[in-house]
Amino acid sequence: MTFAEIGLHPAILKALTDSGYSEPTAVQQQAIPAALAGRDLMVSSQTGSGKTAAFMLPALHLFASQERPAVAPRTGGAERRPGPRGHDRHRFQPAQPKMLVLTPTRELALQVTAATEKYGRQLHQVRAVAILGGMPYPKQMELLGRNPEILVATPGRLIDHMSSGKIDFSQLQILVLDEADRMLDMGFIEDIERIVAATPASRQTLLFSATLDGTVGDLAQRMTRSALRIQVDAVSAKHDNIEQRMHFVDDLAHKNRLLDHLLRDVSIDQALVFTATKRDADTVSDRLNVAGLNAAALHGDMHQGARNRTLAAMRRGQVRILVATDVAARGIDVPTITHVFNYDLPKAAEDYVHRIGRTGRAGRSGLAISLVHFAEQFNVRKIERFTKQLIPVEVVVGHEPTRRAPSANPRPAGKPAWKGGEKRSYGQPSAPADKRFSKPAGAPRRDGAPRAPYHDSAKPSHGGARRSYGER
Ligand code: AMP
Repeated sequence: MTFAEIGLHPAILKALTDSGYSEPTAVQQQAIPAALAGRDLMVSSQTGSGKTAAFMLPALHLFASQERPAVAPRTGGAERRPGPRGHDRHRFQPAQPKMLVLTPTRELALQVTAATEKYGRQLHQVRAVAILGGMPYPKQMELLGRNPEILVATPGRLIDHMSSGKIDFSQLQILVLDEADRMLDMGFIEDIERIVAATPASRQTLLFSATLDGTVGDLAQRMTRSALRIQVDAVSAKHDNIEQRMHFVDDLAHKNRLLDHLLRDVSIDQALVFTATKRDADTVSDRLNVAGLNAAALHGDMHQGARNRTLAAMRRGQVRILVATDVAARGIDVPTITHVFNYDLPKAAEDYVHRIGRTGRAGRSGLAISLVHFAEQFNVRKIERFTKQLIPVEVVVGHEPTRRAPSANPRPAGKPAWKGGEKRSYGQPSAPADKRFSKPAGAPRRDGAPRAPYHDSAKPSHGGARRSYGER
């Protein structure tokens, strides 16, 4: 089905053509017609699947099709404007949005707002604003004073504005919970409950989440009515367009040397390097700059302005390497990121999937490289079980680990590497190699020996400098 066959408003079709979208993605194929029909949705889909358009296009269509209200929107009226410092509550009429999108992070909120502006470019009467922690209050009051149709917000700051009477949800038609699992992980459950309780029961609710299991499934049940459950095929969750590799390292010095070497690969347009801690993001970024590589850090201790500037510089191509923590990098959508490096492995296997999904955006291919200490083999195994894919081990000539990549643990005959998973010989690439990823000088070679699965009970001996991984 094409976007035109789905029946979207011509102004939206024009914006989609201008954006270079030729056909709906899998999640859009299923979600848009159902949302247009007024159904509540609970959608399990990964970032990169096109989920933003899946909820925003039907909303824009609805607003474009609705007649303008008898009373003109209250723009420009002196009574709508906040006082000079934005604190004049008595003269400020609350904003009455028609749509609210809740997101876990500021970056994702800004991205959703930018996407809305892109899709709604031809619709001059639909405005979206982001309400975020870290943004100055006067600026937010000014944005709310425009009475935007669409609010995109992180829960904490929204609650602040609700408490001070700046927002009235009586006109709300559509509520979107984007990356709901993530919002729960970040402890926003009470804020979400409070916000949802302030919206009309007649609203349409669209919930998007990487998973619909457990707590998030309960939340979805409570907040939706007869929702259509959409599960986007597991193939996209597997990131089949992203080649994965890992390198074993002896210690921190070895890891740093190897990272420097790999980052000099000319086939890298832009790279995202993940660290476990904010401090490591700064340290690694500083070290790369000293080594002559163009890097910048992105993490939650930075002021919002600095984070926005760094991301904007990344988008303009002025920064080649972004060193980031999970939370800061969540939702980053820079299509020119060709490589993702796990300087530290994430603790949760799901975070691994989110991390590597920062490359291979919008149908392109990408390469994800993990630098793994021998002591982290359990973690690797956990990730491999979760993704049902093996991560091939690579070795760079001249940067080999002193220990051999694990091959000593024989796999019990006939037993697959993970329960119920497909059987694949170790050491094979998980996706066909892309020609763009030509191997650098001193090219890595596949480790010849097949890697056997790690026994959960086996505790690998730890040689070299000890370093705790995954510390915050
Ligand atoms: P999302 O999952 O919403 O973060 O979207 C991932 C990326 O896919 C973004 O760069 C979108 O601009 C892009 N995208 C979304 N829908 C389409 C489509 N139908 N065709 C091509 N690209 C798309």
